[in-house]
Amino acid sequence: MELIVAKFGGTSIGNGRRIKKAARSVVKEYMKGKKVVVVVSAINKTTDELLQIVDEAMEDAVTEKQLAEIVSMGEMTSVRIFSSAIEALGVKSEYIDPFMDEWPIITDSNLLNAKVDFEATEKKSKELLKLLDQGIIPVVCGFLGRDPNGYITTLGRGGSDITAFLLGHCLKADEVIIVTDVGGVMSTDPNKLQGAKKLDKISVEEMRDLATHGAQVLHPHALKYKDPDINAKIIGFEHGDLSAPGTEIIGPSKNKMVKTTTLNPEPISVVAVVGEKILNKPGILAKLTSKLAENSINIIGISTGQNSVTIFVDKKDADEAHRLLHDVVIADDNLSSLSLGRDIAMITISSPDFIDTPGIISEITKPLRDNDLNIVEISSSQTSVVIFVDWNDGKKAYELVRGVLE
Ligand code: ASP
Ligand code: MG
Repeated sequence: MELIVAKFGGTSIGNGRRIKKAARSVVKEYMKGKKVVVVVSAINKTTDELLQIVDEAMEDAVTEKQLAEIVSMGEMTSVRIFSSAIEALGVKSEYIDPFMDEWPIITDSNLLNAKVDFEATEKKSKELLKLLDQGIIPVVCGFLGRDPNGYITTLGRGGSDITAFLLGHCLKADEVIIVTDVGGVMSTDPNKLQGAKKLDKISVEEMRDLATHGAQVLHPHALKYKDPDINAKIIGFEHGDLSAPGTEIIGPSKNKMVKTTTLNPEPISVVAVVGEKILNKPGILAKLTSKLAENSINIIGISTGQNSVTIFVDKKDADEAHRLLHDVVIADDNLSSLSLGRDIAMITISSPDFIDTPGIISEITKPLRDNDLNIVEISSSQTSVVIFVDWNDGKKAYELVRGVLE
């Protein structure tokens, strides 16, 4: 029997009519023979309103425990209303909140920005399966958690997306559906640029980068729990139909789900181009990179500073890159000189956990510091850290870094 997790954002349950529409869309899937777990946010802007009231009433005098309990009322209310709305349509439903035995989401005690205890949650979430087997539609509070002391915690603003993907993962759901106020993911923010188009598909990797850079369609941490085998999509609430196409979220590719540390087998060369105030002059990066592109030289990495651009290329391409870029430097008054550096080792460390692990970079770099290994350059994204060291230090650095993750 197919199992879906449907998450309704605040706007999609923003008033009574919308809640009725949402409840109907859930019951419609249930009638097709699917098991449905519902996750809801607080109605409309309830969370913002509660936070503002608290702020006006007592500013900083509120404790974390009090604040978590107060904001939790948003989701405590919406689950009760949503569950009743399902029952009004003649289908059995139960709301699930953190005070109940069946509550699945277990976290640490960082009350307002709690981290999920995945193992405990996976175990507890099986309780929901029992309800589903009895033909009941559980309606779970998004955004909330419970710590080992039984205190209410929150997963941080926008956290109900995390709840949905986490439950989808733990229950091995067939699909996670995020119902929101835009019809899916757009090519850019339609309020900022005309001509924005809805995308049919987007990969987890692209979605994550979009989300971390400000697109507010989905909480970036939610995708950590996106299993490649679980379908996921974002749809608009106005359809009142969970089968609406929306934007499908694809992936992640399987190897992106695991921790890996790799040492590039070949040395890498670095070419540093310097000039005064490079970053204030339009087109300099384009001149440098297009010269390499025209000559089929692949750029492995690039970093920019006020007065320099550092370009990493394969060692075999280094001499040619050096020569080509020298021509650019000579022809451009803004650029003064360039240098071809020594052989560099590149170590790539990837893990889906990096995104919500504070201090991961210092953890990775600590053994290098302790062993007096110099880092030439470091760059990081949501799920990977790339470290460049002297080629001669490569093997040792690789072993040290690998030790950190194991
Ligand atoms: N109600 C919470 C918030 O507004 C959580 C959520 O909507 O995802 O941040
Ligand atoms: Mg949201």
